[in-house]
Amino acid sequence: MLFSQDIGIDLGTANTLVFVKGKGIIIREPSVVAVDQRYSPVRVVAVGSEAKNMIGRTPGSIGAVRPLRNGVIADFDATAEMLRKFIRKAVTASPFSKTRVMICVPSGVTEVERRAVNDAAKSAGARYVSLIEQPMAAAIGAGLPVEAAKGSMIVDIGGGTAEVAVVALGDIVTSRSVKVAGDSYDEAIINYIRRKYSLLIGERTAEDIKIQIGSAFPYESEGAMNVKGRNLVDGLPKDVEVTSEEIREALKDNISQLLDAVRTTLENTPPELAADIIDGGITLTGGGALLRGLDKLIEKEVKIPVTISDNPLDCVVEGTGICLEKHH
Ligand code: ADP
Ligand code: MG
Repeated sequence: MLFSQDIGIDLGTANTLVFVKGKGIIIREPSVVAVDQRYSPVRVVAVGSEAKNMIGRTPGSIGAVRPLRNGVIADFDATAEMLRKFIRKAVTASPFSKTRVMICVPSGVTEVERRAVNDAAKSAGARYVSLIEQPMAAAIGAGLPVEAAKGSMIVDIGGGTAEVAVVALGDIVTSRSVKVAGDSYDEAIINYIRRKYSLLIGERTAEDIKIQIGSAFPYESEGAMNVKGRNLVDGLPKDVEVTSEEIREALKDNISQLLDAVRTTLENTPPELAADIIDGGITLTGGGALLRGLDKLIEKEVKIPVTISDNPLDCVVEGTGICLEKHH
């Protein structure tokens, strides 16, 4: 008997999600790999949240890496191993069944790296592998009319990259990818707090601040947050109060680079399609879409209505799922 199983994967810079046809999203894990450096080539000891939880709790020889952090595959072996582990977790049918895998990779990934992803999926047991463009998957997952003779604009803000694209007639008309996204926002918060308070905070704290009180536009019930870190003057622990307004200031330059990418993409859009975008608006996806007031700010700056998709963190993998359902 021949089983077939269809799997969609969003291989993101921050999070990897896996969709199984007939089941829905079954894996949502950070794109993190823990490796034991005592071995050569390095040995992967854990992937996903298990790997993330090992950070700081393991002997010195084990280190956690985010192999796709900057939107390129920095460590091919680690990426391949992570992908293999996730696929094996998702595949329940016999290894001889027809497994089809559709993978979405960040658009900065080169042709060589794409082929490497393809090979890793095959070695994990996939019979057929196809890759889908990230903005296309995001647009489909957000429910935009990508096949129509009508332009739609999608802005996906992930961890390592933000991608802005106009899609129409099933294709990407124009797009732009910038390496200023969620991770850079965290770095900007770290730098701001270091400069202003001589306080050193970690990446996780910075992300926490961003999620709890970060914003791109003033919002009601703005607050403050007590932040702990290391005093750079005497090396001792120290805490300070940080306000929403300060964090907005810290994020300003990064956000303005996102706005530039949106403007440039609009400028490169043929006039008829630009007219469609004025009607249909801009859709935000990816974890960064959840930054408070980002929709309002973009709306104000480019004067086009902005919508945040439902479940922005799931859009890309949902998009692969929709493609898999359609082609069969
Ligand atoms: P990728 O597709 O690159 O893996 P994701 O779409 O999973 O990235 O988004 C991850 C990014 O979204 C991280 O930088 C994370 O800090 C950010 N993020 C998640 N939730 C929020 C939130 N509520 N507010 C602001 N940023 C958020
Ligand atoms: Mg993504």
